[in-house]
Amino acid sequence: MLTLLGIFVIASTAIAQPAAVKPYVICIDPGHQLKGNNQLEPIGPGATVKKPKVSSGTSGVATKKPEYVLNLEISLKLRTELEKRGYKVVMTRTTHNVDISNKQRSDIANRAKADLFIRIHADGDSSPKTAGFSVLYPSQSNKYTKTIYAKSKKASELIYQGMKNATGAKSRGVVPRADLTGFNWSNVPVTLIEAGFMTNPAEDRKLSQASYQALLVKGISDGVDRYFGK
Ligand SMILES: [Zn+2]
Repeated sequence: MLTLLGIFVIASTAIAQPAAVKPYVICIDPGHQLKGNNQLEPIGPGATVKKPKVSSGTSGVATKKPEYVLNLEISLKLRTELEKRGYKVVMTRTTHNVDISNKQRSDIANRAKADLFIRIHADGDSSPKTAGFSVLYPSQSNKYTKTIYAKSKKASELIYQGMKNATGAKSRGVVPRADLTGFNWSNVPVTLIEAGFMTNPAEDRKLSQASYQALLVKGISDGVDRYFGK
């Protein structure tokens, strides 16, 4: 019995590890760009409701840094870490001077057949006291995202937990949204990380620290690993 079991284990290990394992593909979208584009596009396939192609985002009250700069900083570090962990990463942008609408960002993830589409943003609020990170996913009632709802929610929850563990930062929950163009055009599981509030002076400064960005990236990557069962 023991001998037989031993043979079985060796055989199944050999089958489970073929020579070349195809890596999971992650598409990272650093939110916004140098200049917003207020031309309108439909918020989903066949939608009559339209929203600006890409808004200009918030900016740091203490650092004076535009959100699009912070988003790309974090995104490039996330790319490096995910590649180190064996993922194939596709970026929607690696420079600021681009003009890519939120629909077009989803198109890039769809074309790449991404296993997960991660959108990186930072938050803003009228009150400087508001702080904390959150993770957004397409809501269950949203007709555009029925097929990606469950996986998107799961990925969002695991990334949220990973970020919580890694940063210990104040957090505001995992939040369903039906109004985001970049969700509604996506055919692949999608999540949007609001890394923190740039309108809160302390959090704004923290978000720009290399050491804190490393914690954010570790937390997100740990969540991604758990989503793919690693
Ligand atoms: Zn944003």
